[in-house]
Amino acid sequence: SGGGIVAYADSSRPEEGSGPPQQDVPRKKKVVVLGTGWGGTSFLKNLDCSRYDVKVISPRNYFAFTPLLPSVTCGTVEARSIVEPIRRMFEKKNKDVAYYEAECFKIDAAKKAVHCRSAVGTNLDGNGDFEVDYDYLVVALGATVNTFNTPGVMEHCHFLKEVEDAQKIRKSVLDCFEKASLPNISEEEKRKILHFVVIGGGPTGVEFTAELHDFLVEDLVKIYPAIQEFVKITIIQSGEHILNTFDERIAAFAETKFQRDGIEVNTGFRVLKVSDDFITVKNKSTGGEILVPYGMAIWSAGIGTRPVITDFMNQVGQAKRRALATNEWLRVRETDGVYAIGDCSSISQRKIMEDISTIFKVADKDNSGTLTLKEISDILEDICIRYPQVELYMKSMHMLDIADLIASGVGDSHKESMVVDIEEFKNALCHVDSQVKTVPATAQVAAQQGYYLADCFNKMDHCKEHPEGPLRLSGSGGDHHNFRPFRYKHLGQFAPLGGEQAAAELPGDWVSMGHSTQWLWYSVYASKQVSWRTRVLVVSDWTRRFIFGRDSSR
Ligand code: FAD
Ligand code: MG
Ligand code: MG
Ligand code: MG
Ligand code: MG
Repeated sequence: SGGGIVAYADSSRPEEGSGPPQQDVPRKKKVVVLGTGWGGTSFLKNLDCSRYDVKVISPRNYFAFTPLLPSVTCGTVEARSIVEPIRRMFEKKNKDVAYYEAECFKIDAAKKAVHCRSAVGTNLDGNGDFEVDYDYLVVALGATVNTFNTPGVMEHCHFLKEVEDAQKIRKSVLDCFEKASLPNISEEEKRKILHFVVIGGGPTGVEFTAELHDFLVEDLVKIYPAIQEFVKITIIQSGEHILNTFDERIAAFAETKFQRDGIEVNTGFRVLKVSDDFITVKNKSTGGEILVPYGMAIWSAGIGTRPVITDFMNQVGQAKRRALATNEWLRVRETDGVYAIGDCSSISQRKIMEDISTIFKVADKDNSGTLTLKEISDILEDICIRYPQVELYMKSMHMLDIADLIASGVGDSHKESMVVDIEEFKNALCHVDSQVKTVPATAQVAAQQGYYLADCFNKMDHCKEHPEGPLRLSGSGGDHHNFRPFRYKHLGQFAPLGGEQAAAELPGDWVSMGHSTQWLWYSVYASKQVSWRTRVLVVSDWTRRFIFGRDSSR
């Protein structure tokens, strides 16, 4: 890249006639961040930007608080209340960061550069493309919708990924009500126009359904009393239950509440095709096909891979994957200086059985060819940091300590005086890798990964000087073997269900449902806002809705 080379030359040239020559001052490493969503902004907020030359590239110059997007669809919260301008985030922290409003369409790992296309215009030659080179690249591009190539979905369904989507949905809902109010519309047609179908019973689909239902019964029926009786909401879910990533009690509570509200929940149905007037669904158990007339359909079934990520995966030998595979330190496998966080990535956890001989050797300090319980206990902490599946396995088997686990390999339990050889050690650990967990595609994960990665970047110099880190089992850590691997901390999840009720799943198998949980939801979501400005806006939107109802003008 011309620009990159020029910038490099400039920054390394000593100032003429002033002070000591600067060639001793190392050039700041260039960090390029792709994406300003949960992962990207969390990384930027925690990064010590004075250490790096930071450039941020994203077609959206704002961060969107996605958990409140369903509320925007019905005007419970205004769109502007959930977005925070990216430039304002840097300004506040006095950070010297460059932002380019552009889309990255190619990552060139060999050349260590990204190719971008301006979202706002071109130069005088009509060229909107440019190239930015990096030393470290942080890929936080998120995911896109996945239609599973179902015909008609792209053309006829709404999606709920972006702020614009939520605004379009809001307008469409009101369009349906106006259309059904016209004088020359038959009852049958009214029923069709006012049939709202939500495809996908995951958290987003369920939350949107709840919002829509509240909007209908609390606001719209009052202003459209004549057509109230024709309104219907249906959820189509291919699995056995809605909210199937939640605790069963929550799924059951949600299904019962929806039934009471008159929302039709059709589980075990798959959408085959969407046309202008009908959705063709298939009953998965009987195989029968049904035509469902509808007025408006929202597709929220599954997340897909962005083309730029697919292209990059092909370059780095990760073809046919859904997301970029990283190591436990979030570095993309087989790349130099490329990291990936959030929905576009997935961590491939190293299996303990791949390193079992190394671990045995490290533990066997006296080279006796056998391990005592003490020798094993001494490295247990390191093992648990490097291979979180060990702890999960012991927990799932109700084992209290490492002695139980090792005894399971020896076959008897003279625990304290136990001595194991490599075969017995392998036997004890051979089922542990079945507990490897993947992290979900959520804001919580993306934010924690962004924070973690920035922390590693902030300490990178320090760690180069002190390469012997806390971990003695280096495994495949590469340049990062002295950092602790990323560990996801699940803080629980909420499912707002409408009618001032919510369900929550909190750490320690704690499940809570009902009205008080909704208040917990309000307070958690207010506190999670990225700035006081959006916090005030969101809370005042909620208050306004309590007092005056939602705004039903377009
Ligand atoms: P994103 O936040 O999607 O960010 C991707 C960024 O990349 C965006 O800034 C985008 O503009 C940018 N970008 C896209 N393409 C390009 C390109 N070619 N070049 C440059 N930049 C590009 N999670 C929860 O934990 N709790 C919830 O309650 C919750 N509710 C949700 C509700 C809805 C309606 C939705 C859609 C999602 C919800 N999620 C929730 C999931 C959560 O939003 C995602 O997991 C999270 O956004 C992932 O963060 P990310 O940084 O990977 O991607
Ligand atoms: Mg992001
Ligand atoms: Mg986001
Ligand atoms: Mg992920
Ligand atoms: Mg020994």
